[in-house]
Amino acid sequence: MDIKNLEARVDEVIKSTQNLIGVGNVATYIPELANVDADNFGLAVVTVDRERVLRGDTELIFSMQSISKIISLIMALEDAGEEEVFSRVGTEATEYKFNSIRPIEDRAANPLINAGAITTASLIRGKDVDERFNRVVEKVKILSNSDEVTFLETVYNSEMQTTDINRSIAYYLKSKNIFSEDTEDVLDLYIRNCSIGINIEGLATIAAVLANGGMSLDGKTQLISKKVVKITLALMAACGMYEESGKYLMEVGFPSKSGVSGGIIGIVPGKCGICTYSPRLDGSGNSVRGKKILEELSNSLDLNIFI
Ligand code: GLN
Repeated sequence: MDIKNLEARVDEVIKSTQNLIGVGNVATYIPELANVDADNFGLAVVTVDRERVLRGDTELIFSMQSISKIISLIMALEDAGEEEVFSRVGTEATEYKFNSIRPIEDRAANPLINAGAITTASLIRGKDVDERFNRVVEKVKILSNSDEVTFLETVYNSEMQTTDINRSIAYYLKSKNIFSEDTEDVLDLYIRNCSIGINIEGLATIAAVLANGGMSLDGKTQLISKKVVKITLALMAACGMYEESGKYLMEVGFPSKSGVSGGIIGIVPGKCGICTYSPRLDGSGNSVRGKKILEELSNSLDLNIFI
């Protein structure tokens, strides 16, 4: 990608979306998420040729929240294999909210809603929660090529105190024999994963590795197998933006994943990874300005994968 053109387009979309500053609300159901400056903002693009454009609050560390569902899915696929994973969790989008108990029935609809990510968390190997979580953090460090990955304990404690819905989902899944591990351990790992702190550059780098077919950006190491990347990107396209996934795919046209702290990552295969951060959300839990930026970038840089 032509870096000068990329920089110019990025600066244009930042300007053209300024009318959305102040639109939407930060998540408050996890009390700690309400303590951020709602108008924090960041945008990072990392290309597969290792060019990068970083704008806004580049140093700010925020919790991955549902973007961690991607890591959990990748690790479950690597640890347990495709067949095992999809015998426990479905592959279809759902019209219900990310933390709804409704799309579960016998198993979660897909791995990118809470019930599905609780399921994939149960498939991550390790002798105890500490070992499993350390492996997840290590994976995030390797994929983001950064050590600036931390555990945000205040976010974790805050969610742990208010997570009755996720606890209910976890016990329901356990009652359906979706997993046999200790339910509180599985829930604990899921919430810890959501509380991993990272900056926009780290997330855009993870997105770029996925855009690069799982190969490290220096071209030396296959960090994720192509098969696992294919599955992950397909599910991101189909279900990554919750009940807005179809509409979002029509407007933006590449696989993406959002989290309630306000981050969205977008993957443009063969080209680049993008991360937006803007904590004000719409009713589905997706960042209002982030979505618009991704749509405008897609249009101005011709990033739609379908046409
Ligand atoms: N930790 C959040 C939850 O379980 C993640 C949800 C999200 O980012 N959409 O509710």
